Amino acid sequence: MPLADCIGHRQALALLTRAASRAALPPTLLFAGPPGVGKFTVAAALAQALNCEAPVEGAAPIHVDACGQCRSCKRFSRVLEQMRGGTDVALDCFVRIVPDDKASIKVDVIRGLLARTAFRPFDGKRRVAVIDEADALEVASQNALLKALEEPPAATVFVLVTSRPDSLLETVRSRCPRVRFGPLSPDMVTEVLVRDHGMDRARAVAVAAVSGGSVGEALAREAGAFTADRDAALDVLDALAQARAPSARLQAMQGLMRRTGGRGKKGEATLSRQAFATRLDALKGVVRDASATAVEADPRGVGNADVADRVARLAAAFEMPRLVRAFTAIDRAQGALDRNAQPKVVADWLALQL
Ligand SMILES: [Zn+2]
Repeated sequence: MPLADCIGHRQALALLTRAASRAALPPTLLFAGPPGVGKFTVAAALAQALNCEAPVEGAAPIHVDACGQCRSCKRFSRVLEQMRGGTDVALDCFVRIVPDDKASIKVDVIRGLLARTAFRPFDGKRRVAVIDEADALEVASQNALLKALEEPPAATVFVLVTSRPDSLLETVRSRCPRVRFGPLSPDMVTEVLVRDHGMDRARAVAVAAVSGGSVGEALAREAGAFTADRDAALDVLDALAQARAPSARLQAMQGLMRRTGGRGKKGEATLSRQAFATRLDALKGVVRDASATAVEADPRGVGNADVADRVARLAAAFEMPRLVRAFTAIDRAQGALDRNAQPKVVADWLALQL
């Protein structure tokens, strides 16, 4: 991704690209700022720009940027895409060190990295070695790193990324010029959620508003909320599978209206219209997956794979014609909600249809 596509952090981008355009980028940098605001993304874009075969002049405040077209840029896009997907990949000119499963970065890992930096990168001009969550560096690791920071290898830039710069040793901190990253505005968080994570805009606006300016926080909240909505939908469908009498069905559907994990902003125990609409989406998702399971469709297309057992039990309890009817009914309920019908009225109607 070219630096121009990074959202926010104009000051940091100006600082970094001015230095890069004058071949004066310090060999060690400390990217400090709250988690989830895009520090690693900027480090990756900087690495791409430093290795671009035909760097371009950026629009202010960016002094130099990647072209986005050359062989090196294409390789960067590919690798970053894989990294986002969770694949453990690296280029020789772009290395990322992350904490191990005990949340620390051991000295062996740093020694391995330093051994690599003795050579120029074979696949690029300048190696950018990102140490992500650098506050996880053990003291021995920091001491090992110090030597490299004192006599930096010619073709490598070390970027220490952290939200807790003060937990690093003073000797390390003093050798790394600090680049500050602040929280993003809600608009910026929305933009990243829509553009890079394919989130629906209305949803993104709502999540961004409570994200504290952090895309990471917004995504974590969204994942938590998704699971809560999905579980509520599964519980309601389980209850409906058993309930025959209308009163029992109405009772079962109340579960879809109930807030999980405490009360809302105004102390309410029931959901807002928007939150209820999201629940209906979750209900539809589960019914869709149950239908796919009932006809033994390719399970890779199923969205709720982690609860495949529960979905399979629902598929058996509901059977195909009822699932099709349920899907249509939820669709109509959503339409009614869009036309301003009361959530409670919609829920009661739906209880008798499913
Ligand atoms: Zn390029």
